[in-house]
Order: sequence, then C-alpha cells, then structure tokens
Amino acid sequence: MAGTIRKLDEVVVNRIAAGEVVQRPANALKEMIENSLDAKSTNIQLTVKQGGLKLLQIQDNGTGIRKEDFGIVCERFTTSKLTKFEDLSEIATYGFRGEALASITHVAHVTITSKTADSKCAYKATYNDGKPTGPMKPCAGNQGTMITVEDLFYNMDVRRKAFKNHSEEHAKIADVVQKYAIHNAKVGFTLKKFGESSADIRTPPNSTVTDNIRLTYGSTVARELLPISHEDKTFAFKLTGQISSASYSLKKSIFLIFINHRLVDCSTLRKAIEGVYTSYLPKNMHPFLYLSLEVAARNVDVNVHPTKHEVHFLHEDAIAESIQRAVDATLLSSDSSRTFYAQA
Ligand code: ADP
Ligand code: MG
Repeated sequence: MAGTIRKLDEVVVNRIAAGEVVQRPANALKEMIENSLDAKSTNIQLTVKQGGLKLLQIQDNGTGIRKEDFGIVCERFTTSKLTKFEDLSEIATYGFRGEALASITHVAHVTITSKTADSKCAYKATYNDGKPTGPMKPCAGNQGTMITVEDLFYNMDVRRKAFKNHSEEHAKIADVVQKYAIHNAKVGFTLKKFGESSADIRTPPNSTVTDNIRLTYGSTVARELLPISHEDKTFAFKLTGQISSASYSLKKSIFLIFINHRLVDCSTLRKAIEGVYTSYLPKNMHPFLYLSLEVAARNVDVNVHPTKHEVHFLHEDAIAESIQRAVDATLLSSDSSRTFYAQA
C-alpha cells in the first residue's frame, strides 16, 4: 500500500535544514564572524565555553542591527544583503542566504544585543526556532552587536553526544579564528575561553598578514615566508599571499585559501600547489601557504552548499596551472642553493 504524502511541519523542516548549515560549533562561529565582517567591524571578540557547545559569544563594533529588524532578523531567508538572484553574481558580502542566524536559533538558544550609530540605546532579545521569545528590551550598550549562543544542539541528542571531545572542537574554532585574523589583518580578533583572563588568540586591529601569521602560527614560519603575487589577464584572476620557502617544512601542510575572500576547501588547488613543493622539500614534508585568490565575480559560483565551504569557478584547471608556475618561480628565485648551482 502506498504511503500518504504529508507536508512536514515548518519547525521540522527548519531543524533539518539547520543541521546542515550548523554542523559543529566552528561552523556557527564562522557564520557569525562573517556577519561581523559584513557589518564592517574593526574589532571582534569571541568567548567560548566547552568547545562552543555550552557557549559561543561574539561581540563586534560593526553597524549593528536596526530596532525595526529585531522581529525578523532570525527568520529563515531574511537578509539585508541580497535582494534579487541576479545580484548574487556581484555579491560583495559573505552572507546572502539569510539562513545562518535562523539555523542557529533552531539548534540553540540565541540572545542578540545590538545598537546602531543613530539609536539612543541598545536593544536585546532572545530567540528560539527563528522567533523572539518575548518583546525586545532597551538596554545599555556600545555600537555593534553581541550574539550569545547557548547549549548548541540541545534538541539534537545524537549530534550533541558526538562532540565528546571539547578540546578538539575548541581547536577547530581556533583554526577558523586564526585564518580569518590572517586574511582580515585590519580587523582585531580576540578568542578567549570563558572564565580565563588570557586570550588564546589576540591580533591587534590594523596589523599586517605577516604580523598575524607570526602571532598565530609562530615566528619560525613567519621568518620563512616569501610574498607571492601574480596576475593573469586571460583567466581574469589575481593571486596574493605568503608561502613558506624551500628551507622550511612541516609534517602536515598548513593551507589557507581564500577565494574572493571566502575561506574554502579547494582540493584542485591544494594538490596542484603542494605538488610543486615536492621537488623542493624533503620526502613527506609539506609547506605553509596562505593564498588569497580573486577571480572575476562573473566566473564564480558561490552558492554551491549551505555551509559555503566550497565555491566553483570557471577555468579551474588553467588557473591551477598558472598558479603552479607562479609558486615555482617564487621558490626558485629564493632558493639560494639552486641559484648557486645554476651560476656554477
Ligand atoms: P546573511 O548573512 O546571509 O544575510 P544571516 O542569517 O547570517 O544571513 O544574518 C541575517 C541578517 O542579520 C544579516 O543580513 C544582517 O542584516 C543581520 N546581522 C547578523 N549579524 C549581524 C552583525 N554582527 N552585525 C550587524 N548585522 C547583523
Ligand atoms: Mg551571515
């Protein structure tokens, strides 16, 4: 006998979708950092308890959320960033789906305190399942937004129990913060464990990429960095970055790639670039790479997955080859032993 088809309850639909956007504490934090950056913050402070499962808190000094928007800010598909589909090809903000905050409220308890420049005071409201749990309240506060996420996955037993190791989750969070701090060197970042006075990560506002690599990954790697910069008119892309020299290597590679300012996984580029290093480094040793790739917006599809972990772009293979040659040239020009050999 055929089953009866019924429409799922909206709360169920939203919770299923939320589980896809927010896979672990570090995803939720990434979305919130991106919102703070979209709001033009210059200082972002993060506090985390139990690997983010108990508490994730982010305080920024950005543009804030308007009082009138407090009612819908956490509903699914509400955004101040995108209005029509065509704009997606020119999108300059991290956000556009209006899904992150909504998703988080479906799997955690969320409190937002925010003040815009022209408002006399801040407002505060608590959210569950996309909606405020009561009226917003006026309160004291500086310009900017503070979002508190408590008891992540409180309503998803299996998911919550899968994160037994809080220090592993904390490390994943630190990894995201480190990478955003390096790419957004003008913005100051602080990451603290709740109740501790010293910060795990602290980068001052207005620092440089190399300052922040030194502050987060250490001075040994910072001393070995070579700047790379490369432009290709044919395939309409620009690359800048800092890559480790041939005299430095790691057991496990560190690979930071931002494509049009989005932190993504890109195995094609990773494999291509690490391949270049195999002829420079000892066997089984790997490089540190920070790369910022800017591809013409018309050639990029950012809407591949709800977590935005991936982007697709045209001419991927040709671009990878062009970058390989640039990396090779950078390493070759700095490799003194080879220069010597060539001269001899
Ligand atoms: P999106 O970023 O795709 O628009 P989100 O769910 O992440 O969707 O956020 C919804 C909206 O909430 C944003 O469009 C923005 O207007 C507002 N917002 C969220 N976080 C902040 C913040 N830190 N500062 C200012 N506005 C924010
Ligand atoms: Mg967002």
